[in-house]
Amino acid sequence: MFLLTIEDEFAAAHYLEGYQGACAAMHGHTWKVSVSIVAQETRDLGMVVDFKDLKRILKKVLSKYDHSCLNNVIEMPKDEEGEAESSRPKYNPTAENMTRIIYGELEEALQQFSKAGICELWSVTIWESSQASCTYSRQGEDVGEEKEVATTKKAFVKDMLKRKTDELREGEKS
Ligand SMILES: [Zn+2]
Repeated sequence: MFLLTIEDEFAAAHYLEGYQGACAAMHGHTWKVSVSIVAQETRDLGMVVDFKDLKRILKKVLSKYDHSCLNNVIEMPKDEEGEAESSRPKYNPTAENMTRIIYGELEEALQQFSKAGICELWSVTIWESSQASCTYSRQGEDVGEEKEVATTKKAFVKDMLKRKTDELREGEKS
C-alpha cells in the first residue's frame, strides 16, 4: 500500500477551560499539521493523488483556524444528553480535539477521492510544539454514521483481493 503524507501549519491562540495552570490563560502556538492518506494502487502518471491537490485541500480546511482564537472557532458536538455547555472543558481546543475535528473535516473534503476508491484518509497528526503531538485515526473502525464510507472501504478491499487472486491465477497458468 502507499501512504502519502503532506504537512502544513497554522498560527492560532487557545486557552483551556477548567485547567489548573498556565494553559488556562490565552496563549498561542504554531500548530504543525501532518496528514496521511492511504491507497492500494497508483493511477495515471504513477501517482495516487497529486500532492498539489492534497495541499490545497488541507490549506482550505486550516484557513478558518489560522490567526484565530480556536475557542471561538471550533464546533464540537454536544454530548449524548445534548449538554455541550455543562461539559465544555471536554471540548477544549486541545491537540486531541483539534486532530479529531480536522480529521472529520478532511474526511469530508477528500470524499471525491474516497468515494471513487482512489484513496482514504489515514491519519491526522498535530504538533502543539516540537516535542508534543497527537495523532488521530478512524481507520479500522466502523463508526455507525460512517456506514457509507465503511461499505466503500469493504468493497475496495474485496475488489483488491479479487484482483490479487486473479493475478495469482494468471501467474499459475503461465
Ligand atoms: Zn496551548
